[in-house]
Amino acid sequence: MEEIRQRRVLMVPAPFQGHLPSMMNLASYLSSQGFSITIVRNEFNFKDISHNFPGIKFFTIKDGLSESDVKSLGLLEFVLELNSVCEPLLKEFLSNHDDVVDFIIYDEFVYFPRCVAEDLNLPKMVFSPSSAATSISRCVLMENQANGLLPPQDARSQLEETVPEFHPFRFKDLPFTAYGSMERLMILYENVSNRASSSGIIHNSSDCLENSFITTAQENWGVPVYPVGPLHMTNSAMSCPSLFEEERNCLEWLEKQETNSVIYISMGSLAMTQDIEAVEMAMGFVQSNQPFLWVIRPGSITGQESLDFLPEQFNQTVTDGRGFVVKWAPQKEVLRHRAVGGFWNHGGWNSCLESISSGVPMICRPYSGDQRVNTRLMSHVWQTAYEIEGVLERGAVEMAVRRLIVDQEGEEMRMRATILKEEVEASVTTEGSSHNSLNNLVQAIMMQID
Ligand code: UDP
Repeated sequence: MEEIRQRRVLMVPAPFQGHLPSMMNLASYLSSQGFSITIVRNEFNFKDISHNFPGIKFFTIKDGLSESDVKSLGLLEFVLELNSVCEPLLKEFLSNHDDVVDFIIYDEFVYFPRCVAEDLNLPKMVFSPSSAATSISRCVLMENQANGLLPPQDARSQLEETVPEFHPFRFKDLPFTAYGSMERLMILYENVSNRASSSGIIHNSSDCLENSFITTAQENWGVPVYPVGPLHMTNSAMSCPSLFEEERNCLEWLEKQETNSVIYISMGSLAMTQDIEAVEMAMGFVQSNQPFLWVIRPGSITGQESLDFLPEQFNQTVTDGRGFVVKWAPQKEVLRHRAVGGFWNHGGWNSCLESISSGVPMICRPYSGDQRVNTRLMSHVWQTAYEIEGVLERGAVEMAVRRLIVDQEGEEMRMRATILKEEVEASVTTEGSSHNSLNNLVQAIMMQID
């Protein structure tokens, strides 16, 4: 009897901490539904994660790129370069590959598989690890830029104005970049937003969070949108090892703290903090009198190799046990810990989803790109966060922390965060909207292949 061949989906994640785990969660789900999965990864930022995903095949394309290229080119130029380098490599890989590939899913920031799929006449879908609001905001930014309607970057009062037909976002909430020029950003966004020829767009988001933006995205691109997130909460999700080494001893320190008393601070895997700002943050945390757990990634403070520049009073507070500093934390576990009462972050989408799914309210200080959009979503749509803007000084940091952890206002935000958490939890159950979207996605892929 003829053997029935499993359908093979090739998946291409972007080689960044904020991108890889959510695509791996999707890969686990598709694998649990009977698809054969091949993951094509970059040599850049590589860490072997294959042992956590038995049954999934992994291949690496030798892009020859390294961290020093990010430093010399800047992140934006690096992403453009990575895409140009990888397109011929993927073509070559597919032409020498033994397994028949039926379908391609690629991360929006590594868009090089799009042309390869078109050349090979393979159906494809875009995976966006960020919010639907972000996808739309990129188009809004491109349109306003093309029509000459963007206020200049130094026109402060104009930047405060709401973008017409894009409430509640102000011009300054649009996804500008801190990593390169506007001209190059537009080239990147044109590629990232080129989705109309795709069979669909998969978002690591939920209908319960972004219903109207998901509808707008569907209208905008004229293809189905699948809000399947938060993917780290789906049943089949396997834990994807972090690209950085986690310091788990902070969980023991959390055990010693009172419920909802700790402010957890983390700016994700890429954002940088000015050293002057870090000093003000440090002193603000000291003055707040609240326990704090602060992730300071090596190299994430501009111009500083070590933490010696932080004030003595801060070091003393850490020595006394009221503060804890790590290079990288097991963030999802930290956020689920009963002691954590608030999360100071940069508005990274994964951080927001993880905070919401743990019912933790936030203080956001966006740094670049989609973080501005997410911050506005959280502060003005879901109202589970507030943004800390302008020049940062210790008194403002102290007040922000106390407002979130101690004051009634923070308590109300925590209640809203808890309601959202319950809605998000419901969306990933077998009756929920994200689970339905996953089922619809499986059907759509099957139909494209058959
Ligand atoms: N993260 C972590 N430990 C840390 C800091 C961050 O595990 O100490 C994880 C966090 O859980 C999230 C990801 O890194 O999944 C950061 O993604 P996000 O989208 O928030 O920000 P990005 O790094 O893309 O700017």
